[in-house]
Amino acid sequence: MESQSKTSPPRYTDVVFDHLPIATALFDAQDLRLLTANARFHDLLDPAWRDGRAIGHLLSTFMPGWFPQTEVPALLAIFHRAAQTGTPYRKEDQALVVSGGETTYWNWTLDPIYDQEGQVTQLLLTGSEVTAHVLARQQAEEVHAWRSREHHTDEVELSRLEVIESVGRRVRETLDTRNVSMAAVEAILAHFDPLYVYTHIADPLHSVLRLLHIRPVPEKLALRTIQRVPYDGPYPMATAYRQRDPIIIDDLQTGVSRDAREHYRLVSDEGHGYVCVPLWFGEQFEGTLSAIFKDPISPNGPEVQALVGSGTHLAAALAHARLHSAVENERTRLRTILDQLPEGVVIVEADNGHISYANTAASSILGIPVAQLIGTPLNQYPLTHLVTTPGGQPVLPWNFAVIHALSGETISGQETMVIRPDGSHVLLLSSAAPLRLESGVVTGASIVFQDITARKSLEEHKNEFLSVASHELRTPVTAIMGFAELLQEQAVQGQSLGPSELRAITGMSEQSQFLSRLIEEMLDMSRLDYAYFSLHLAPHDLLKTLLLVVEGASSTTRKHRLRLSLEGLQPTDTLPGHFDEARMRQTLHNLISNAIKYSPAGGEIEVGLQQTQEQPNEVLIWVKDSGIGIAADELPQIFERFRRASNSDRSISGLGLGLYLAKEVVTRHHGHIWAESTEGSGSTFYIRLPLK
Ligand code: ADP
Repeated sequence: MESQSKTSPPRYTDVVFDHLPIATALFDAQDLRLLTANARFHDLLDPAWRDGRAIGHLLSTFMPGWFPQTEVPALLAIFHRAAQTGTPYRKEDQALVVSGGETTYWNWTLDPIYDQEGQVTQLLLTGSEVTAHVLARQQAEEVHAWRSREHHTDEVELSRLEVIESVGRRVRETLDTRNVSMAAVEAILAHFDPLYVYTHIADPLHSVLRLLHIRPVPEKLALRTIQRVPYDGPYPMATAYRQRDPIIIDDLQTGVSRDAREHYRLVSDEGHGYVCVPLWFGEQFEGTLSAIFKDPISPNGPEVQALVGSGTHLAAALAHARLHSAVENERTRLRTILDQLPEGVVIVEADNGHISYANTAASSILGIPVAQLIGTPLNQYPLTHLVTTPGGQPVLPWNFAVIHALSGETISGQETMVIRPDGSHVLLLSSAAPLRLESGVVTGASIVFQDITARKSLEEHKNEFLSVASHELRTPVTAIMGFAELLQEQAVQGQSLGPSELRAITGMSEQSQFLSRLIEEMLDMSRLDYAYFSLHLAPHDLLKTLLLVVEGASSTTRKHRLRLSLEGLQPTDTLPGHFDEARMRQTLHNLISNAIKYSPAGGEIEVGLQQTQEQPNEVLIWVKDSGIGIAADELPQIFERFRRASNSDRSISGLGLGLYLAKEVVTRHHGHIWAESTEGSGSTFYIRLPLK
């Protein structure tokens, strides 16, 4: 301390000043001469100016070695401005390259110092080094930038996967080709913003690609150009098919020739990026997926990858949809065939015994609606072992055959019986077979049956007819033979003809006529069977025909009185019509002779004819008796062949053919024949006949 007091007092401020971590320097405000500076400041200068050599020198002389030459004028201007205006100046993170090329960063300030008159006399420069902060910040920024770059890549990758995943998910939701395509297009639209996305479906039969779906829908003209693309045409969809690889064009404006561009774009001057992915599922070409983008694309861009990735899902889904629809079509075809079969078809599942299919014919034969049949367990239908036909014959119930088939047996041509819910009986001819897997396991059974009730009853009637016919034919023949023998005896005895011989001759004649009528009816029936039955239409007087028949019939009976009832006509009138006179006579004769036959007690028979002014081209004819009549439940079948009502006495001869033939004749004249009757009190037969 003492020695210190002897020498000049230590300049502590200088010590502090020199060791400050802040560089500081004082300049003369007039000429920017360096007045003083600390060591930290000197170290920043060019080596030639260090160690205090810059003191007393103008800033402009040592500044060029200190700051980059280009920045010097601007910096000098800052100093001058501060000196002149007295405005302090602050600068952050100024880069400073010191010799050796090392860059340091500084925050520096320039503060004016005033004298008592308020004049700026000096400028104080202070600078603190912030290199470490700046570098740390720069590093942090770089890391951040790298991170956000990575994040972006992750996001793009994620979005690409999302599109593919979303297409995959959505196309699996449907089995309809159009919906599959729509789902894929919508999924792509939801993630990217393409100008157009569209799909084409392959039509290998016609070697064309057909537009399936497009979003958004372009103008009609543009749409028409891509609606149908031949496999060998110039469109990129066809090229993609031929080369089996996606077509990717970064920018249509530069990547394809002006002429070819029209095949890629939908609307002129629009579209840059283009992708067309051929959709192959194994060796099967399903179609194409195309997109046009507003901006150029990169071949490895997310859009391209997403479309290619989605294409795989779309191809698989379209293939499934196609197979599904082929199977469906096949099934529909089969169903249509089965539904139109006149035979009933029923399929029964082996595992639960439920009916899984029944066609319309099955439903109408069994008398149960299809909807009710399907899903019903077979055992719901009573399976009593034997049922009997109305004729008393035992037959198996209809489901018997199918139950055997379920146990693996094949049954063919089995007569079975259905008792319908309404109680009616239907006789069936059934065949049933098991349905097996390739392994031989029985999965179900099918039964095919046809209604043979009518055939059966026809057969029965035919048999009955044969016995009736032989009896009917034998009766007149026996009578004729008897009469002939009588005459022969008389002739042998050389006697002349007496009253009994004359009766015999009349009897022979009558019986021969009757025989001939029976034979004629039988012939007519076989003519109808073989379509040899024809009408000889010609103009005739219907009234005259009717009068002749009535007159002829009157002479055959004494017990009955035939009364003619004409409405709207006189017996002397004519009633011109166009008809087969012989057939019409036969028909009218049949109705009148039936009225006589089936009124064994005799009585009046009314034969009527009516022509009204309202229907001048039509007549109504009726034959009314008061005989045995016909039971109500038999009346509807009375016009069928071999049908004879149960109340008719077997002694009343007949083959059950007359009304059948009458109906054929009237129907072929476009007329209508029907009967009204009350059992026990008589019948009326009507014919409505057009005259032309
Ligand atoms: P058939 O030769 O037996 O008379 P048809 O075909 O002319 O044959 O008549 C069929 C059946 O209709 C007859 O067997 C009879 O039972 C009934 N029938 C026809 N006409 C009459 C009638 N006028 N009155 C009662 N029953 C009739």
